Amino acid sequence: MTPTRIWTPSRVVVTRSASELPHTAEILRRCVAAGVSDIDVLSGDRLTGLRGQSERETYAIAKKTLAVVVAPPSVLRPQPIPPSADWRIDLAKGCPAHCQYCYLAGSLSGPPVTRVFANLDEVLAGIGTHAGRGSITSGTAERGHEGTTFELSCYTDPLGIEHVTGSLAEAITRVGAGEYGDGVSVRFTTKFDDVADLVALDHRRRTRVRLSVNADDIAHRFEGGTARMPARIDALRRLAQAGYRVGLTIAPIMPIPGWREQYARLLADVADAVGDVDDLDLTAEIITHRFTASSKDVLLSWYPGTKLEMDEDLRTVKRTKFGGAKYVYPRETMSEMKSWFTRELDAVLPQAHLLYWT
Ligand code: SF4
Repeated sequence: MTPTRIWTPSRVVVTRSASELPHTAEILRRCVAAGVSDIDVLSGDRLTGLRGQSERETYAIAKKTLAVVVAPPSVLRPQPIPPSADWRIDLAKGCPAHCQYCYLAGSLSGPPVTRVFANLDEVLAGIGTHAGRGSITSGTAERGHEGTTFELSCYTDPLGIEHVTGSLAEAITRVGAGEYGDGVSVRFTTKFDDVADLVALDHRRRTRVRLSVNADDIAHRFEGGTARMPARIDALRRLAQAGYRVGLTIAPIMPIPGWREQYARLLADVADAVGDVDDLDLTAEIITHRFTASSKDVLLSWYPGTKLEMDEDLRTVKRTKFGGAKYVYPRETMSEMKSWFTRELDAVLPQAHLLYWT
């Protein structure tokens, strides 16, 4: 089996305000245990010294740095996040992996440093204040049993940084213990496989972990710094065996040569892995590749040699409700992929409830 993928920052910076909070002590304890010796407590709250001579160098410095900061009030207010969940809760912003299509490109400003939030009590309090409110998922046939859902992975891969933060275990345990009410659940998606600590938590089935999976060629070429596909599928199996609700985030789908064969193999591997799990609760979310003008610019500055197809001429423009434009695959390609995936999921993984396709 491929070794577990664990990220350890080279450098940790702590803002002055964050340094006074109890969760920071836990983060630093984990960082020291992980062998990080370069830890700076700043005299103020502005992150500085993170820029290199070029965009590439800035990127490299940022991806090796963990910043411990205080989430501002705007982050503490849960935001609606359809179709994934009712609300978004951010444990951190930024991710140490190197996906050449990264969803965060264009949505985070400045160097892509991973900022973990030290005021964890305030961050998680949003679950309590929004329990039972403004739900897109509660009340639906597939998801009503999960109560009000809170997505933890909109702006980070929370498992990718868990080893040095501990925020995820805290969220899972508190939600499991009913600290924010009984009718709530948290969910996150990950490309990492370090689930040894998670399987031991008292989660009470109030957490759904989705493994982000893809065709081998795509994962291999474009998802640097993440766990290999067999390790992710094994993590899915271990989590399901430990009683977690689980899921697949199949994303971003790309119609590469041989896509049907590659995705068929992926689904068959997942079916083999979870076939004998008792009480399996498995969902699927399927997301096709898309980009915007600004995400393309950022990605090309981070990965100038990328072979990722981001050619506007091969795409269809889709207007967003905020007036922006994203480039998606043309209608015929979309409908061909959608019918293939729907059919194949039904045939190969009938246990999986497809939550959405986009
Ligand atoms: Fe971006 Fe997700 Fe890859 Fe992290 S794991 S680099 S957030 S796409």
